[in-house]
Amino acid sequence: MSRRVILVCLVLLLLMATQGFAFLLVTYVVRSGDSIHTVSRELGVSMSTIIDFNNLSNPSSIKAGDRLFLPQPDGLIYNVQSGDTLESIAKAFFAPVESLFDTNNLKSSSTINPGQRVFIPMSVINMYQYVPQSTPFRWPVYGVISSAYGWRSHPVSGDASFHSGLDIAAPEGAPIFAASKGVVIFAGVNGGYGNMVDIQHDNGYVTRYGHMSKICVYVGQRVDSGSLIGRVGSTGISTGPHVHFEVKDSKNNTMNPLSTLPTRDLMYVIRREDDGTSAGGK
Ligand SMILES: [Zn+2]
Repeated sequence: MSRRVILVCLVLLLLMATQGFAFLLVTYVVRSGDSIHTVSRELGVSMSTIIDFNNLSNPSSIKAGDRLFLPQPDGLIYNVQSGDTLESIAKAFFAPVESLFDTNNLKSSSTINPGQRVFIPMSVINMYQYVPQSTPFRWPVYGVISSAYGWRSHPVSGDASFHSGLDIAAPEGAPIFAASKGVVIFAGVNGGYGNMVDIQHDNGYVTRYGHMSKICVYVGQRVDSGSLIGRVGSTGISTGPHVHFEVKDSKNNTMNPLSTLPTRDLMYVIRREDDGTSAGGK
């Protein structure tokens, strides 16, 4: 970390200081000339993390004197929802469950409660997800398919309608990751989609992510495959927390997202470096 960085205070994150939480939340005071890019570089924290921790709706508006909260090391916080387990949280971040034990001073037998906050280091996020080279995209969220692509009876109106994407149900606040690298071309509210992000990918496709509770990217931002782009929610026309994941080809026609994703059994697996095959959880 640069010596020029001004840290006005180091605060052990609220989560049970008595338990020896293994990361710091630092306050960074923005200096003149700073941008989200320079802060990201100097503190080694991704831009999406900065936006996520500070609920920045317009990252270019940060100005000297503003205070930003940043985790050290880089990582994300998840607010435990009812029904969550350490395993389900690890899966939401495509991370090994063991990595949550040390970081949060938990044991495999530990119980977690709704409202509790769990820290997941960036270094382990997306470790467990195998994307074959023949597949254009990775799963943007770990969850259960709640509505397929194609004709359906609309879940709210009841009318026959064409469902242009794939609905993946996941807990409120679960992370949503870019399906591949590209540039954010829309980030904001769009009618029934609620909070929505569109990414133009280098491979010619556009992906869309709807109903987010929070958006963690801005228009024009370059994202890598697996960058955090937002959090699962139920904004817009929606019956519960899920991601509407849509894929358009280079001619702007929607296609079945399942044809672009790894098979369901590869949603949570670790890749073996030696032979290129995968093994692990489900
Ligand atoms: Zn949908």
